[in-house]
Amino acid sequence: MSAHEELQQIAVEVADCTACKLHLSRKLAVPGEGPADADILFIGEGPGFHENEQGRPFVGAAGSFLEELLASVGLSREQVFITNIVKCRPPNNRDPLPDEVDICTQAWLNAQIHLINPRLVVTLGRHSLHHFVPTKQISLCHGKPLRTVAPDGAKRIYYPLYHPAAALYQGSLRKTLVEDFKKIPAVLKAVRDEAEKQRLLDEMSA
Ligand code: URA
Repeated sequence: MSAHEELQQIAVEVADCTACKLHLSRKLAVPGEGPADADILFIGEGPGFHENEQGRPFVGAAGSFLEELLASVGLSREQVFITNIVKCRPPNNRDPLPDEVDICTQAWLNAQIHLINPRLVVTLGRHSLHHFVPTKQISLCHGKPLRTVAPDGAKRIYYPLYHPAAALYQGSLRKTLVEDFKKIPAVLKAVRDEAEKQRLLDEMSA
């Protein structure tokens, strides 16, 4: 099976997942969407009201803002992969519980990251950041790329951002998020250049 087919299979299985109690209150599970060969993977916290209704990630107000941010760097949502730490909406938008995060990421997100193998993982909000890098504070590390080992054991580059929903109505956070977002093309270029340099070095020593 190709990565695309495997991601589609994951989406089919997520739709019927009963691995944790979040399935009891969901309307539709939200597996995430985007091309299997996306360079950038955006990871939010969990579906909200609109996502739960439609089965698609970031389709409410935060989603419109995310699309605006993507457009500011010449990207559309079709060019990136967008998903969440947990695939079902926590009741009343509460934070997902540690066991829900563990069960859901081990069942789905880790496999998605491994299949997409993105050059850059953009974490949206502090819950997403803390899942990957529990020791960092978002107020100190937003807008700065971090290299660390992902749950699939691969070294990856993370780019922590404030959550669009938090930044939407808070002037100073909004300005910070807009500025951090604008750095994404340069961060991606640096990651690509580094990979190319490594490829050339590997070729020389072959
Ligand atoms: N907030 C999230 O973290 N994810 C969504 O999909 C929508 C809002």
